[in-house]
Amino acid sequence: MVLKGIGVSEGIAVGKAFFIDRKLTKIKKIKINESNIAFEIKKFKEAIKKTEEYIKHVKELSLQDLGEEHSFIFDVYLLLLKDDMLIGETERFIKNEKVNAEYALWKVSRKLINIFEKTEDPYIKEKKNDVKHIVDKIIRFMTNDGFVFKETSGEARIAIAHDLSPSELVSLLKQNIVAFAIDLGSKISHTSIIARAMGIPAVVGLEKITDNIISSDDTIIVDGFNGVVILDPDKEVLEDYIVKEKKYRDYVKELEKLKDVEVKTVDGEFVNIFSNVEINEEISISNEYKAKGIGLYRTEFIYLEKGDVSEDEQFEILKDAVLRNENKPITIRTFDLGGEKLSNLLPHPDEQNPAMGLRAIRYSLRFKDIFKTQIKAIHRAAVFGDVRIMFPMISGVEEIRQAKNVVEECIEELKNEKKEFKENVPLGVMVELPSLALITHLINKEVDFFSVGTNDLIQYTLGIDRNNEYVAYLYRPTHPAVLTLLRKIYKDAQKGGIEVTVCGEMAGDPKYIPVLLGLGYRNLSMSPSAILKAKMIISRVKISECEKLINSLKRCKFARKAEEKLEKFIDEHASDLFFH
Ligand code: PEP
Ligand code: MG
Repeated sequence: MVLKGIGVSEGIAVGKAFFIDRKLTKIKKIKINESNIAFEIKKFKEAIKKTEEYIKHVKELSLQDLGEEHSFIFDVYLLLLKDDMLIGETERFIKNEKVNAEYALWKVSRKLINIFEKTEDPYIKEKKNDVKHIVDKIIRFMTNDGFVFKETSGEARIAIAHDLSPSELVSLLKQNIVAFAIDLGSKISHTSIIARAMGIPAVVGLEKITDNIISSDDTIIVDGFNGVVILDPDKEVLEDYIVKEKKYRDYVKELEKLKDVEVKTVDGEFVNIFSNVEINEEISISNEYKAKGIGLYRTEFIYLEKGDVSEDEQFEILKDAVLRNENKPITIRTFDLGGEKLSNLLPHPDEQNPAMGLRAIRYSLRFKDIFKTQIKAIHRAAVFGDVRIMFPMISGVEEIRQAKNVVEECIEELKNEKKEFKENVPLGVMVELPSLALITHLINKEVDFFSVGTNDLIQYTLGIDRNNEYVAYLYRPTHPAVLTLLRKIYKDAQKGGIEVTVCGEMAGDPKYIPVLLGLGYRNLSMSPSAILKAKMIISRVKISECEKLINSLKRCKFARKAEEKLEKFIDEHASDLFFH
């Protein structure tokens, strides 16, 4: 069976399925020996402790921001964590039935939920959701976000899921997963960005793949080029794909010859390539491809994986990143949480329209303690290299000033605490809201650098949800409105003598690189996996040709026409750029 989706990360993988049910409905019953009982109980108790700490933290935050009225729910959760019918009974269940803690808790909670369900009183009936919620949280602490990896053997597997969050994918990549295919998603969701960064084939937006996987032994082909997933292929197709997989490996070898090249255009203009990274492991790929440094370090993944992390823990992670980056510049973006990037482990109010709501800098300024912890950790890590700080989703001058005040406060505190830190860390902003793009002439005195986030700039300029597959066809980097904003940002940066980089996905897409060069940009930050192709296209074009291209794009009224022009341009300059 052939399923068509969106190919979001190139490559071909052939392997067996690894089915992921993130709704936690498939908790496995594992029989244990007498000698393992103590281990399971310890694991259970540790998870309870972590859940308790988490709930207390969230309660505190909610008290500050929402008042007593909304914080009572956390007391209910805290009481449940001491409830003998739930907690005591689970321990007894582990001992008496000799089963794993996750299963015991799940089983005991079902009994409790059944009791609540049978009552007539709607208030008591509602209690079942509190139990479900807290049980889900404890299980997540026990199973690393609900995955049960014990099911996989050593062989390479292809993950199949309804959806995968960025943190789930990061956890999977630490296992033996070589590709993934999911029902939901779009090209520029963060899960897709990570897939490209790590160079693993991925197809998303398949709508029904989870309905079609029968067993974990199904053979699957993931064709990230064509956005195709083939289930149980016949012999001929399978052989065909095994040949393709080999051809792809040869093509990659060719590209790798560009690894050490310092790239310039045919007419001699040097272009600086930086990397976008989410996890420290990617920095070694960045170094291998000779990037000039890290143009975007997305810190939110630290939180998505671990929840609210202490200053010392963040310091260690960031120090490791700075050291791995070998003295080259590293731009650390403060956490861009909210919107599609939400962690169950951090406070996040229910919002009707989270992309327009409490996201990025707005979230930071609201939950200031979490923000300050991060700012202090960055200043401490800055001692070890060339660190810069960047604020995401800035909408105007007010937020820049507020963020800078927080930095000042943190510096004072670090001084009082007598910690070792670097004081003068350059501060920059992401230009990714149209409101900021339209006033870049007013802010070039406020900050030390700009970085253009085209993913969000396009989303908010064109009013298109970047994760919605139904409107993905309208997502158009060459829309004249976008080109006009990009031109303005570049010119204002030039006039203000301020450094400007493009770090959205456009910067790493070979089709759009000539566009950015034509607009004037010379600093591009991209997923490390995009670097080699970027080097190839840059080394094949002249700036004058790119400028001509811009002029013709400006006259294009239809998306298809613009895309055709770009494809023709690429074909004329680098027909060997893509794998066919
Ligand atoms: C962007 O919006 O272009 C960007 C780089 O930020 P993110 O993709 O993390 O939102
Ligand atoms: Mg963004």
